[in-house]
Amino acid sequence: MNTTAGRWRRAVVTGGAGFVGSHLCTALLDRGTQVVCVDDFSTGTPDNVAHLARRDGFTVLRADICRPFDVDGRIDLVLHFASPASPADYQRLPLHTLDTGSLGTRNALALARTHKARFILASTSEVYGDPLQHPQSEGYWGNVNPVGPRSVYDEAKRFAEALTTADAAVRGTNAAIVRLFNTYGPRMRARDGRAVPTFIRQALAGEPITVTGDGSQTRSLTYIDDTVRGVLALAAADLAGPVNIGNPYELTMVDLARLIIALTGSTSELRYIERPTDDPAVRRPDVALARDKLQWEPLTDPEEGLRRTITWCRANPES
Ligand code: NAD
Repeated sequence: MNTTAGRWRRAVVTGGAGFVGSHLCTALLDRGTQVVCVDDFSTGTPDNVAHLARRDGFTVLRADICRPFDVDGRIDLVLHFASPASPADYQRLPLHTLDTGSLGTRNALALARTHKARFILASTSEVYGDPLQHPQSEGYWGNVNPVGPRSVYDEAKRFAEALTTADAAVRGTNAAIVRLFNTYGPRMRARDGRAVPTFIRQALAGEPITVTGDGSQTRSLTYIDDTVRGVLALAAADLAGPVNIGNPYELTMVDLARLIIALTGSTSELRYIERPTDDPAVRRPDVALARDKLQWEPLTDPEEGLRRTITWCRANPES
């Protein structure tokens, strides 16, 4: 365990007004940690943290982390989660995505170094690209097209991993890398283009569910509470990673669509549309390292996680 062993007094969450970041802010406040949420609202929204506005010790700093930034007062943890993450967002914001992964990561690392804080980089299973190894363990180097439509995200994260590793080696930053697999849950945007919110929105509206290709491509879906627990376990551990955090439960996109139709009681049918370029064929984490070093494993039953997400989407149709 690190020096504070998971009892942080004050944390910075970059991208704290996004989907994952907002849940991290809540979890930290719940364990008594003050939180500074740093966000430029490029893909997140103040609504995601509106419920935290009155909580003691919660502040929001509107800033683009591509420019150097500092926060007043002592910090002992930096969770660096700022980055567009859905394909629709990073293809709309390609240069911003590259800048955030490079300049933004450099500035977030500098913040952690200045405050002698623990630093966690949110990386992604996308560093494995369209994988030639299945399931993917941390030792796999990936199969990424450096000039394809997904490259701005994949390569930004690969660069961010290299920068984090070099910063720790050269400057002694107490840094770690977490590779998150597809995470879903409340506060995903209905139109962010990712499969879970898209299928739920379409199912609730009784519209055709748009499955790309023949729908045989797989993903492993992790419920947000499990992801948050994994991130905080890594933050509290004396481990640099990279560490996969994801649910090895793997299902095809057709099966996901059918499951969401069943859970929503929808009459929607499936409509097959063109598959995006470089879309990975399979995705499943090997989580032996997280089990062994962090005593972490996913606890949320996938159907239960989807039920909770559907309940939230019903209540927030315009999210
Ligand atoms: P999101 O788009 O909901 O959240 C990202 C947040 O970062 C937004 O609030 C956005 O406004 C903010 N942001 C972006 N660029 C910024 C900048 N330059 N300065 C300040 N703020 C900036 O995405 P998410 O799904 O919550 O993903 C959060 C992080 O987790 C990302 O780093 C992503 O790569 C990583 N991740 C997410 C998943 C997933 O399934 N959601 C999987 C793997 C990795």
